[in-house]
Amino acid sequence: MAALLRIDTVSKSFGGFFAVRDVDLTVEIGDIHCLIGPNGAGKSTLFKLVVGTYAPTRGAIHFRDHDVTWDPPFARVQRGMSIKMQTPSVFKALPVRQNLHIALQHHVAAADLPREEERLLDLLGLVASATRLAGELSHGQQQWLEIGMAVALRPSLLLLDEPTAGLSPEETWRTGELVKRLSAGGMTVLAVEHDMAFVRQIATAVTVLHLGAIFARGSVADIVADPRVAEIYLGTPNAA
Ligand code: ADP
Ligand code: MG
Repeated sequence: MAALLRIDTVSKSFGGFFAVRDVDLTVEIGDIHCLIGPNGAGKSTLFKLVVGTYAPTRGAIHFRDHDVTWDPPFARVQRGMSIKMQTPSVFKALPVRQNLHIALQHHVAAADLPREEERLLDLLGLVASATRLAGELSHGQQQWLEIGMAVALRPSLLLLDEPTAGLSPEETWRTGELVKRLSAGGMTVLAVEHDMAFVRQIATAVTVLHLGAIFARGSVADIVADPRVAEIYLGTPNAA
């Protein structure tokens, strides 16, 4: 397997407190890699190191064999990362289709735009909502629309920060099916997530962070079967 993203012994300190400590993590091409761990584990900090919001205190990050450690976020996006942050930031006053149009317009020839919009609407399950204002969509639909806008950039790595936050179990499941469809279409995914049902549904690889360091890694089956993980992750044995 080939590495798409390599995090090499990365640390991030805030005034002497290490939120992330000596983390080594590789995301292989084709994986749906879930980064999990209890509150305060360092997941968001690591995510921000990957997307370029923070620079590491130590260590390096390689993406598609380029050293991007010091690249700002836009340069990483140009190299093929696409980021869906936790809070949806769709254009609420514009129709759903127009949102996709805006995201697509710099990446797709004008003549192909309608077809691409249609393809994305279908992928996202938003065909029937194409002409509605994005602000009128449910929270889940807004999340899917934003995933669609991230996907419109045709990234090689899709980064999702808690894509199921605030969603109902039904919406969470549908989000998982969407991520699996994207993966089947060839996209590699790194998702920060705390919902274990969702992780079980989608993950091909799991990394567990605890107190800023790697605590465990493996397949979903490995992680779910690991009583140490259940203990730190949910505070009780056998809860994962
Ligand atoms: P998670 O996303 O896993 O809940 P975070 O990465 O948000 O964890 O936080 C990890 C630890 O680092 C926490 O103890 C948090 O308080 C601390 N932390 C996060 N961001 C900052 C910051 N900007 N300044 C100081 N401490 C921070
Ligand atoms: Mg967080």
